[in-house]
Amino acid sequence: MSKLDSLFSSELARAETRRVRRRLRTATAAAPGRIVLGGAPVLNFSSNDYLGLARHPLLVERAREWAARHGAGAQASRLVCGNLDLHEQVEAKLARLKGTEAALLLASGWQANAAVLPALLRAAAGQGDVELYADKLNHASLHHGCQAAGARQIRFRHNDLDHLESLLAARAEAAAGKPVARFIVTESVFSMDGDRTDVARLADLADRYQAFVYLDEAHATGVLGPGGMGLAGLAPGRIDLAMGTFSKALGGFGAYVAGSRALCDYLVNACSGFIYTTALPPAVLGAMDAALDLVPALDAERARLAAAGDRLRAALREMGLDTGASSTQIVPAIVGDEARALEMASGLERRGLLAVAIRPPTVPAGTSRLRVTLSAAHRDADVSRLIDGFAAVLA
Ligand code: PMP
Repeated sequence: MSKLDSLFSSELARAETRRVRRRLRTATAAAPGRIVLGGAPVLNFSSNDYLGLARHPLLVERAREWAARHGAGAQASRLVCGNLDLHEQVEAKLARLKGTEAALLLASGWQANAAVLPALLRAAAGQGDVELYADKLNHASLHHGCQAAGARQIRFRHNDLDHLESLLAARAEAAAGKPVARFIVTESVFSMDGDRTDVARLADLADRYQAFVYLDEAHATGVLGPGGMGLAGLAPGRIDLAMGTFSKALGGFGAYVAGSRALCDYLVNACSGFIYTTALPPAVLGAMDAALDLVPALDAERARLAAAGDRLRAALREMGLDTGASSTQIVPAIVGDEARALEMASGLERRGLLAVAIRPPTVPAGTSRLRVTLSAAHRDADVSRLIDGFAAVLA
């Protein structure tokens, strides 16, 4: 018993009444694209394992091998005595693939966003006013990082670069030559909508207004852009910081930021989420290293994933479902009403198909949806089953 249990219980009861109580369910990985959830086997259309690498033998083997050779843990933070040559090897490989001067590993994507943004904004704060432009639908971790930095966010309409431009222009005029440090924080592929940012135009805008671009590539890394290494590669050398994770298409765990050497060295000195945490362990690094070896050669998988997305969107739209501006492996079926989304998700699950319902506050009110994520591990027949499942629950 804890002293606050009665408080916790009433909070949980309130969540239950509002039908927003969250519960963990036990999942067992069965095979790529498939899991056993709460005892029942399902085709998994809710994972972020976009390339089916989570169970790839090369990742599993290198994780095992590096753990066997170097131990289960790194024993300390990187700055104390936990900086293994393995960290440096993975960072060098990543920077080469991203075409950046340097890269820095962080513990998770959430932690990267939560900790890097405050460090960046602190550097700029001494220079005059700070303006922080953020997409309205940015991921919770980006929002958290901006809040932790204590900066007021100037929110632009979701993925609307015209709106961003008008906000930049209006403030630039008002600033009338006073020194201003500007940041633009956005995603290259949005996690709940599967739409993408026009990165070349974003880079143009940022150049014009001398704004530092922080681009979250969590859902693009491994899937889109040159060599599958993200959309920042469409504006080479012009995205100041590309952040991404190893936890989605790269099949493992952990995160990175890629950019200039000065940026990464600064973060080593100033980012508390890097300084005060234990270095990533060898097994995690082994899976990262193997994924980076595989990803550039997976063009056929990426093409298959893109084709599956096109096929699913066309089928859902034909059934009258709204897939928004999705153009990637993330395909929302936006139904609006929370209860309807939940009902459809359980109908699919009864048919052995997992596509979980996403509701406010994760998405804006009135836009509850089933968020379908495709994987190169899905076969055409799997996607057919999903389409048939949607038809059945709508009937
Ligand atoms: N950024 C975005 C856009 C995400 O969708 C996520 C994961 N949901 C994260 C960051 C966090 O990444 P990680 O899972 O590696 O903590």
